[in-house]
Amino acid sequence: MTNELQPVRGTRDLIGEDQRRHHHVVETARRVAAGYGFDEWTTPIFETTAVFARTLGETSDVVTKEMYTFQDRGGDSVTLRPEGTAGVCRALVSNGLTQSLPQKVFYAGPMFRYERPQKGRYRQFHQIGIELIGPSEPLADAEVIACGWHIIDALGIAASTVLEVNTLGDRESRQAYRDALIGYFTARKDRLSEDSLMRLDRNPLRILDSKDAGDRAIVAEAPTIAAYLTPEAAAFYDTLRRHLDRFGVPFRENPRIVRGLDYYGHTAFEFVTDALGAQGTVMGGGRYDGLVAEMGGPHTPAVGWAAGIERLAMLLHEAPSVPGTVAVVPVNEQAEPAAIDALQQLRRAGIRAEMAYRGNMRRRMERANRIGARAAVILGPDDIAQGVAQVKDLVSGTQEPVSLDALADRLK
Ligand code: ATP
Ligand code: MG
Repeated sequence: MTNELQPVRGTRDLIGEDQRRHHHVVETARRVAAGYGFDEWTTPIFETTAVFARTLGETSDVVTKEMYTFQDRGGDSVTLRPEGTAGVCRALVSNGLTQSLPQKVFYAGPMFRYERPQKGRYRQFHQIGIELIGPSEPLADAEVIACGWHIIDALGIAASTVLEVNTLGDRESRQAYRDALIGYFTARKDRLSEDSLMRLDRNPLRILDSKDAGDRAIVAEAPTIAAYLTPEAAAFYDTLRRHLDRFGVPFRENPRIVRGLDYYGHTAFEFVTDALGAQGTVMGGGRYDGLVAEMGGPHTPAVGWAAGIERLAMLLHEAPSVPGTVAVVPVNEQAEPAAIDALQQLRRAGIRAEMAYRGNMRRRMERANRIGARAAVILGPDDIAQGVAQVKDLVSGTQEPVSLDALADRLK
């Protein structure tokens, strides 16, 4: 293969076990989220660049370094979506749904970020996410987190993740905290990374999220927001923690969690793991009351999270197995029409069934064994004339005649 026909760096094909893991994560999340009353939305994979540039915050890593932005043939600047929330809020406004609240949205699909590829970090990756748009009560935050926890639990990986929560307070708390951080970091300016120096004037909270080792040592001693919370913000956080207990969601507090994007306030949280090396965050989210207004809608409170499907898939203890298949085996070509009838009867009943496209009976039985079929339905002219097929259990080896109309019932 010439180099230009290789997959693009940071992209991967999902085939076999990888695809089954991926699918299992999405299906589990979809089912659990539906139980919490979330409806699925599908928004476009690309949007006008402004949808992301205006809303994710000009100091976020995503906007400064990671977006796939290009001019289309009409000269418009468009961007492959780096995350799902901005598109959902854009869709809320474009579809005139800002007066029909609450909206409870689930989504799943590919996201694109120009990052350095490594284990658990790709340029095309996939997220599941939920957004609860409308309520401003901490009960909404707690329910959104509970839904995320429920999905992680349903995937059987709750024991390898920890939920960390924090509050970013209201605007007034954040302003006071911001001033305190500017004072603290300015005094240590000469030891900060270049990225963090840039954040110092624009959004010093983001320094808390820095992955630079030098920054992290400084961050470890930085003041926390607790002392700067207004009574209202403190009460919001108290209520959130009380509700989380009631929902039965275990968590610990981590005052360093700020989230990578600029639009968050009050609740910020992450599900982290130490099983994936540096890529330790599997799910992250929080409250973003300002975003819908940024998108041109009315002031609309909202809370949500997104999770990386690849990272969740890697944490699954075992790959979901392929469902057992039934092999339909005509003993010769004359038996093929009856075999096709049997095949379709099984498939209509939801049973996975396959028939080889050629070969004598021996060859077809060999293939049935090779694909790990659980049973074979063998059709010969004499049996067909009597209205039966031989059903062979390929696990126990036993065989019995079964009426042709009763195949699906027998193999259910
Ligand atoms: P990180 O700190 O790992 O860069 P982030 O803060 O940029 O994550 P979010 O924007 O909050 O991540 O996205 C939510 C989730 O999406 C992450 O917790 C992670 O599981 C997943 N994710 C983000 N970027 C990537 C990527 N490049 N490849 C694979 N998964 C990703
Ligand atoms: Mg990132």
